[in-house]
Amino acid sequence: MRVLTSDQLDQFFLRLAGEWELRLPILLPDGTRVIGSPDDGPLAMLGGAVPGKPTAAFFPQQGTVFIAEGETLSEPPFPERPLFVLGFTPRDLSCIRFIDRFFADGWRDDLYFRLRQGAVVAGLSGYCGFNGALLPPAGGDCDLEFFWDGSRWQVIPYSETGMEIVAGLPDSVTPEEVELFTQASAQHPDENEKLLQRASELLRADRVPDSFWAEIGERCIACTGCNLACPTCTCFGVQDWRSARQTERSRIWDSCQLDGFMREASGHNPLGSEALRTRRRIHHKLAADPEKWGEISCFLCGRCDAVCPTGIGIVAVARDLVARFG
Ligand code: SF4
Ligand code: SF4
Repeated sequence: MRVLTSDQLDQFFLRLAGEWELRLPILLPDGTRVIGSPDDGPLAMLGGAVPGKPTAAFFPQQGTVFIAEGETLSEPPFPERPLFVLGFTPRDLSCIRFIDRFFADGWRDDLYFRLRQGAVVAGLSGYCGFNGALLPPAGGDCDLEFFWDGSRWQVIPYSETGMEIVAGLPDSVTPEEVELFTQASAQHPDENEKLLQRASELLRADRVPDSFWAEIGERCIACTGCNLACPTCTCFGVQDWRSARQTERSRIWDSCQLDGFMREASGHNPLGSEALRTRRRIHHKLAADPEKWGEISCFLCGRCDAVCPTGIGIVAVARDLVARFG
């Protein structure tokens, strides 16, 4: 375990910038925080989860698949330097672990791994949540973790690369600081984990009637905020952009709350109502994914509940569902 004061951070990241392409928590002029380039704004380590999809560092909103020019096809180049991405909360790190498995399964997604392979993943934990709330340490799922104990950053490496990165930092951690970390690590699991677990059991036992989804789906205005912010939502559409000289095929995030999400060329739409689409959004995370992957694919990052203008994020829906049927 090594330590850094807030004043030492800039210098530390400047040193890393020689080897890595940095993506850090940044404050934008409008007051929002994003995981972005240090050129985009000042460092903003405190405040908890960034509002946008944190996994966008490896799965960007728009990505070129290939460019066709005459008979020649060219793929996007590999990045010149590997990414160093800091800003994931412990729950975001669980999301990355999940989508790493997802993108590696079957047809390995080379667009994802072009950015992910060789990247350093760094988490943020400690008393750096919203208004100083505690984010219990991840204790893994990343190369290194920055734990804010209220006065200094304790930097804990988990991988070989993480150890190399922190090798030059002072290790003058005090017994009090070790105690703070130990206490924070012993926090009890979120009550909402039990809630999702119960909602998952009810869905898998087919105990939730269609009328529930008709009522909840009625409230969706298809703004797509839930999907676009969710770190484990991985659906995308493919579009071709044509000019006289070339065609660029790119993929763009999709949303299962949109009417055209599953519409087929014939016009048939297996998800032709808001009720079916809302059911699918929740059912996918809580029932389909546990069956395929052995775990619920919502890690309670909080984004869909925070962003949904009509109050039907996953925790709100699970709470309602368990109260009525479970
Ligand atoms: S809380 Fe919502 S946004 Fe976050 S992982 Fe779960 S479903 Fe996705
Ligand atoms: S954020 Fe809410 S209203 Fe918007 S698409 Fe998602 S469920 Fe519908």
